[in-house]
Amino acid sequence: MSRNLPLSMGKLIEEFSKMPGIGPRSAQRLTSYILQSPKAEIDSLIRYIREVKEKIRFCRECNNLSETELCSICTDESRDSSVICVVEDPAGISSIERIGVYNGVYHVLLGELSPIDGVGPEDLKINGLVEKIKSGGVKEVMIATDFTTEGETTALYLNRILKHFNLRITRLARGVPVGGSLEYADIATLQRAIEERRDV
Ligand code: ZN
Repeated sequence: MSRNLPLSMGKLIEEFSKMPGIGPRSAQRLTSYILQSPKAEIDSLIRYIREVKEKIRFCRECNNLSETELCSICTDESRDSSVICVVEDPAGISSIERIGVYNGVYHVLLGELSPIDGVGPEDLKINGLVEKIKSGGVKEVMIATDFTTEGETTALYLNRILKHFNLRITRLARGVPVGGSLEYADIATLQRAIEERRDV
C-alpha cells in the first residue's frame, strides 16, 4: 500500500487486493475508477454488493444460487426433471445454461472430492441427490464435474453409488480439455461434450 495515499483509499485497495485475480495494480485501478465515477453509480454498486450478500442463498432443491427458496430452474415447469445434470458449483450451471441446449434440471455438489485436501463425500451435497433419485422419476444423471483429478474422482465416486439405481448415468464427452474446467470451455466444445456424452 502506498504511504502517500489517504487512509480510506489505502484500505479500499487492500480490500480489493484480497479478491481472486486482483493484484495490487488492479486494486489501485479499481479504486481510482470508484473515485472518478458518478456517486449514483457507486451507490448502486454498494447496494448490489449488499443485496447479493443478504439475499442470495442456495436453492432448497438443487443448491443453485437463488433469491428465493427454489431457484428459477427448479420452478420452471418446462424443464425436464427426469434428467439431472450434476455440477460442482453454481458456475457450472451458468456454463451449461449459456449454451442453451440442455433442458433438464441440475444438482450442485458445492465442492469436489479431494482426498489430499481432506475433502470427502460427507463434505459434498450428495445426499440430496440420492434422496431425489430415491423418490423416483429420475431417468438420467449426467455427470458434468470438471476434467481435473478432483472432478474425475468425484465422477467415479458418484458412478459407484448411483449405479445401484435403475437409471442411465452419463459423463460429458471429453471435448473439454483434460485438466479443464467447464467454466473455460468454449460454447461449441461444451455443446459437443453434452451431445456426445457417454454412458458410464
Ligand atoms: Zn434449484
